[in-house]
Amino acid sequence: MFTRRNFLVTSVAAGSLLATGQAMAQGKGLIGISMPTKSSTRWISDGESMVKEFTALGYDSDLQYGEDDIPNQLAQIENMVTKGAKVLIIAAIDGSTLSDILRKAQEAGAKVFAYDRLITKTADVDYYTTFDNFGVGVLQGNSLIKGLKERFAGVKPWNVELFGGSPDDTNAFYFYDGAMSVLQPLIDAGDIAIVSGQMGMDKVGTLRWDGAVAQARMDNLLSANYTDKKVHGVLAPYDGLSRGIISSLKGVGYAPGPEMPIVTGQDAEVPSVKAMMAGEQYSTVFKDTRELAAVTAKMVDTVLQGKEPEINDTKTYNNEVKVVPSYLLTPHDVGKDDIEKLLVGSGYIKAEDLQ
Ligand code: BGC
Repeated sequence: MFTRRNFLVTSVAAGSLLATGQAMAQGKGLIGISMPTKSSTRWISDGESMVKEFTALGYDSDLQYGEDDIPNQLAQIENMVTKGAKVLIIAAIDGSTLSDILRKAQEAGAKVFAYDRLITKTADVDYYTTFDNFGVGVLQGNSLIKGLKERFAGVKPWNVELFGGSPDDTNAFYFYDGAMSVLQPLIDAGDIAIVSGQMGMDKVGTLRWDGAVAQARMDNLLSANYTDKKVHGVLAPYDGLSRGIISSLKGVGYAPGPEMPIVTGQDAEVPSVKAMMAGEQYSTVFKDTRELAAVTAKMVDTVLQGKEPEINDTKTYNNEVKVVPSYLLTPHDVGKDDIEKLLVGSGYIKAEDLQ
């Protein structure tokens, strides 16, 4: 007899067989999801949330990770086009490398969504879903200033070093510009000193968002500029870089307490949230990837029904060929006191993962 219990058991078994890569065929067509890397947990969460959303909407999905290797990501996207994907959702490793494959995709009738990271130098991108990236930088800059005022009241100037994200990701520039929009006035006023003098994305960028590269640069900054000075703050645009920077600081003797420099971050990754609880990292920026996945899936479904999706920005994201119509979500600043409410309370991080 076919009972509801049987049915549930069968579907759960089928679901777990298909847990990686492909989800179950359900008839509304294939969605290709190309993510940059599993080395950062946020992209794992983005991928899982999207597969869940598309499965619920009745689509098949093909989720692939390029592992920060550009030819790998290109081959994965090409394969999705060959399989007849109706839509490609891409968080690019290098946003400027996809023009040829996206031409082919559009010729095959696929729609292209840039996911979180802008795809540049091509007309063949239809929509962009992301967070307010300049706003992320403003949150990071403001959090750095707040931390400096709290921990180093009375010190003038505050000695600060700046880190940027990967120069092949336009987000890195928005984050940096957003942060500098609030830091530059304090630099001009002499309240903040960039002791190394290294400023501008060409000097402070970190290729592929690599924590080891950030750690090595911080080691150099410390040995070249801080033998007779204390560093009070470091602008870091992503938790993975913050962890490298903090290792470097700990390597020369900084420890949680009144002299620990203020280090910012982004993505609310579990090891970094733990570092915040331990007093090593000062803050992070929480971008709810579940929300981004849900908004993206809804827009995709609308487009595949031949309708216009809702967008809320038609000005900001010029990809050097056109302004890509975008939907921007709101990022949130997270300090130690916000972890419980924003991260655990929202179910983004499980309380036991922070033990
Ligand atoms: C994302 C950030 C992330 C960074 C590194 C950026 O494009 O917007 O959330 O920290 O990539 O993965």
